[in-house]
Amino acid sequence: MNERRVLVVEDERTIAESIAVRLRAEGFTVEIAADGPSAVAQFHAAQPDLVVLDVMLPGFDGLEVCRRIQADRPVPVLMLTARDDETDLLVGLAVGADDYLTKPFSMRELTARVHVLLRRVERAAATPPAIRLGDIEINEAERRVRRAGSDVHLTPTEFDLLVHLAGRPRTVLPRERLLADVWGWGDGNGTRTVDSHIKALRRKLGADLIRTVHGVGYALELPL
Ligand code: CA
Repeated sequence: MNERRVLVVEDERTIAESIAVRLRAEGFTVEIAADGPSAVAQFHAAQPDLVVLDVMLPGFDGLEVCRRIQADRPVPVLMLTARDDETDLLVGLAVGADDYLTKPFSMRELTARVHVLLRRVERAAATPPAIRLGDIEINEAERRVRRAGSDVHLTPTEFDLLVHLAGRPRTVLPRERLLADVWGWGDGNGTRTVDSHIKALRRKLGADLIRTVHGVGYALELPL
């Protein structure tokens, strides 16, 4: 697994250094930027997984940094503020930071916030988006299938077979391979089982969804 990278943007050198020391001890790769323009430049160069961002900076401020980096790609931002009322103000402005920490803060609190933010992002990334095939929607995380907005009940094996086919649309998948990949049967016996599950999927989701390639296998068609 890649080491996660954090960009610390803070012009007060002692604070920046102590944040960096603590995060490095937690296993992060840390870079420091000390003003607005170099924060944006280093963000593009280092592609960090998270940004710790002070509001008051030379060049341009943390709000502008936040705006510019978020315009590039979504990244979790933990913003450092000087006072509680500044935090309230920023929350009200909805600048795009994911969390705020008011100075002075403990390094323990900072690392806890960093871990929470990264976990949240990683959990969101681990949830695959729903697959859409015309009016059919496959939600892998919930193991649900809808057709024209209505739930379609599939058996667990039918579901796995559908997801497998949908992951390689228009590709002809031999029945033996489907047996190996979906059922875990490696000896090629039981191809009739594949046929009967395909028949069930067609009955439930429409006859046109899966094409038969005679003597070979099946391919999922993408509806227009
Ligand atoms: Ca500052």
